[in-house]
Amino acid sequence: HLGNATIKAELGRSTWKLLHTMVARFPESPTSDERAALKQFILLLSRLYPCGECAEHFQKLLAKYPPQTSSRVAASQWACAIHNHVNQRLGKEIFNCADIEAKYQCGCDAENTETTL
Ligand code: FAD
Repeated sequence: HLGNATIKAELGRSTWKLLHTMVARFPESPTSDERAALKQFILLLSRLYPCGECAEHFQKLLAKYPPQTSSRVAASQWACAIHNHVNQRLGKEIFNCADIEAKYQCGCDAENTETTL
């Protein structure tokens, strides 16, 4: 059904955008509390993601490739890699993870980002 596929894809794009932007802004040197928060967020996302078959596959991927939370770079590279596993399964192109943090800006903090306005 075309309508359902379109809606599912839009939900996916929005979710990936949030996830990649979130990890691109994750602290360079996170506290243990911040690390636990990111890990919990990702695990809860995999339980609550509103596309049931997607959530099921994502949980299996997470078991194999647990969230990396030791730093911004580690988290960003992990998110890019896990997205690429989903891309691969869906027959999509593999994304280049080099310079991934610069590609996902939040427009929220003048101190740490380039021009956002
Ligand atoms: P998307 O994959 O949504 O990517 C959006 C944009 O992000 C791309 O245009 C590109 O600019 C960029 N991008 C691409 N790859 C990467 C990467 N590796 N790192 C950083 N940026 C990247 N759909 C299903 O049909 N079945 C599923 O089982 C399924 N599981 C999903 C699980 C999760 C957790 C999520 C968030 C989504 C899932 N989806 C699933 C949706 C699917 O991944 C896509 O979001 C959807 O098909 C739309 O694809 P798209 O080609 O527009 O690009």
